[in-house]
Amino acid sequence: MTQRTPADNQTVPVDLRSDTVTHPTAAMYERMRTAPIGDDGLDGDPSVRALEAHVAALLGKEAGLFVPSCTMANLLAVLAQTQRNEQVVLESSAHMYTSERGAATFTGLFYQGVSGTDGAMDLNRLEEALLSGGHRLKTSLVAMETSHNNAGGTVLPLDHMRTVHGMAQAGGIPVHLDGARLFNAAVALGVPADEITQYADTVSLCLSKGLSAPVGAVLAGSKAVIAKSRTLRRMLGGTQRQSGIMAAAGLEGVQTMTGRLVEDHVRARRLSDGINRLAPALSATVPQTNIVQVETADSGMSNTQWVAALQAEGLLTRPWGRTRLRCVTHRHIEDEDIDTAVQAFAAVLKKR
Ligand SMILES: *Cc1c(COP(=O)(O)O)cnc(C)c1O
Repeated sequence: MTQRTPADNQTVPVDLRSDTVTHPTAAMYERMRTAPIGDDGLDGDPSVRALEAHVAALLGKEAGLFVPSCTMANLLAVLAQTQRNEQVVLESSAHMYTSERGAATFTGLFYQGVSGTDGAMDLNRLEEALLSGGHRLKTSLVAMETSHNNAGGTVLPLDHMRTVHGMAQAGGIPVHLDGARLFNAAVALGVPADEITQYADTVSLCLSKGLSAPVGAVLAGSKAVIAKSRTLRRMLGGTQRQSGIMAAAGLEGVQTMTGRLVEDHVRARRLSDGINRLAPALSATVPQTNIVQVETADSGMSNTQWVAALQAEGLLTRPWGRTRLRCVTHRHIEDEDIDTAVQAFAAVLKKR
């Protein structure tokens, strides 16, 4: 059900900027209200513990850690498994590389990007990056991302993940999976999440994207790595107190919101098809999950002009790179909203 509630008679824009704009469900509010809580920095919070155990089990890991954001989950995975002056190897458009470089500056590590296709690292380049000796740094972590945000919500093939994991393992290097949208990937592949996460030692999962919880993420991994991450979380100021209120919403999200993600994927495809009918001025990626990138280079308008013009037509999007727009479907987007969105693109083209 849509929760966009206009304060007055103005039409509420269709918001395709991100799946992070999703609001908590009524069931989440109820679970937050009735959640058993404690002090997560003292003797623990039962609702936080329940979320951590549930997500760990779901992802086939020994333990979990509730953190304020997926950025922090990724940072902790790095800090807990590396030493300063070593390197992290990851695909060169990975969120951890492009959008979390601020976090990276705190680590004292070098992040080595490896070029890839649809978010999957080129395996020859990866092999090269893992070599040691001479001027090279010791690689202490390999990271993957699925679904892959910058690659347009693409899903890593399981055999690619198996190969990368095998290459890392051969060198005694742990693998981290940035699974901010892990369940979008699981739904797209039609497999349980742990079939994906078996190829990673640690996994981060974002609760506040398509799963619709207000805030938070979970880092899952071995007992030893999670214990270390718990200490590091305190050092970063990420230990919260009655955080069970937020964890309760997250648990509701993980338990009830994964199945419906397929609707977002179907609507993203409907959006892509609608925009591709406006060729050749525009072309849209064919989505595997809930993200569509729209190429505007041949439209004669810059993407910042596009964002403003679409907003005037009642559609919110985000610029992505210099010539692209990003559109993300989510729980508040219905079929009619997709039609409104496509009409907005058509109207802007007509007025240009
Ligand atoms: C959104 C996102 C993150 C960061 O999540 P926050 O909770 O906003 O910090 C990390 N990785 C990927 C792939 C993302 O899409």
